[in-house]
Amino acid sequence: MMKYISLLGATGSIGIQTLDVIRLHPHQFSLYAMAFGKNIDKALPLIQEFKPSLVVVQDEDTKKKLQQEIDHTQILCGGEGLIEASVADPVDVVVNAVMGSVGLPATLKAIQAKKQIAIANKETLVTAGHLVMAEAKKHNVALLPVDSEHSAIFQALNGEQRKDIHKLIITASGGSFRDKTREELIGVTVDDALNHPNWSMGAKITIDSASMMNKGLEVIEAHWLFDVPYEQIHVILHRESVIHSMVEFVDRNVIAQLGTPDMKVPIQYALTYPGRKDLSITQHLDLEEVATLNFQKMDMERFPCLRMAFEAGKEGGSMPAVLNAANEEAVQQFLEGKISFLDIEKYIELALEKHDKIHNPDLSTIISIDEETRRNVRFQIN
Ligand code: NDP
Ligand code: MG
Repeated sequence: MMKYISLLGATGSIGIQTLDVIRLHPHQFSLYAMAFGKNIDKALPLIQEFKPSLVVVQDEDTKKKLQQEIDHTQILCGGEGLIEASVADPVDVVVNAVMGSVGLPATLKAIQAKKQIAIANKETLVTAGHLVMAEAKKHNVALLPVDSEHSAIFQALNGEQRKDIHKLIITASGGSFRDKTREELIGVTVDDALNHPNWSMGAKITIDSASMMNKGLEVIEAHWLFDVPYEQIHVILHRESVIHSMVEFVDRNVIAQLGTPDMKVPIQYALTYPGRKDLSITQHLDLEEVATLNFQKMDMERFPCLRMAFEAGKEGGSMPAVLNAANEEAVQQFLEGKISFLDIEKYIELALEKHDKIHNPDLSTIISIDEETRRNVRFQIN
């Protein structure tokens, strides 16, 4: 049966790879709606190729420009548009691959509309995991992870019971700076940080990988997706990115998922679940070529962003939302050349220290905390 897909973040790294998967299986998948920010140049050929019924852009200005290029396609904009793309009647699966916390309200609405959700956007679960999971439970909607680590855990768990899990073991490649000491991080450039050894990804997540905040966000994401306490989530350095994560069960069995480091693998699994399909555009994993797998203890002093994420996650309430907003803002400022790489962690730490925790924040509280935190970080920087 044809699955109709709404793809939020179509022009991004995950978005483009999702379209590669859709293109590969034209009889199974059809793009019903797509959303992007402002990048018309990148979006236009995609709109022409996939002919979605609905296109959503970030703002009115982009909408006007796009209207001059295409007709016969409905164009909406802003948060309202993202929500419409998520709840539209024909849509079966919403792939949430926008960058940052803008994806949150649309995710909640998609769940309420009982759509299947393929979730790449980790900021959504980090800022409002308690709301998202409660809605998913209430509406009996499956959240299918796209992030490779969570796809690995999901497959390793394969429906086993929560009580049988001893721990989740999340692997981390270490990012662009894994072999540098803290001293050597002083003065690293944006280009250095954007040069990831194993994965090709969007700018923000590549910086998050270098700072290890990406792993921190993934720990919080795993906590919510699999309902496992932070004490039972373990992070280990594994430079080859061949094992994407593991689950150790109470009986000492450890199940790992291995695969070529290519995001199309977990993206397609989220789309075909519970079935599988030939992913002919991706290389097979060649273990003889890989030859050795390395593992190393994670150093929390070396990677303070990971430590802060564990702490914010354990504290709960509004703390993860503050962690995420401060990080999004600081990374943006780093990408714009306004602060140094090591400043990122400094501004996050400051934001967490200044914040008075709110227990169980609702959606509007989370949104205002998000805005306030970003404002404060910008204020500190200027
Ligand atoms: P990119 O920066 O490459 O892409 C972001 C996408 O979101 C673009 O299509 C962008 O449009 C769109 N977008 C940004 N703001 C808005 C907005 N206000 N309204 C509508 N669309 C918007 O990010 P990635 O693909 O790398 O990552 C996306 C998400 O997936 C992130 O949460 C990331 O953490 C997660 N993820 C990514 C992985 C990867 O390999 N890249 C791996 C695992 C998770 P435009 O092009 O116009 O700016
Ligand atoms: Mg990941």
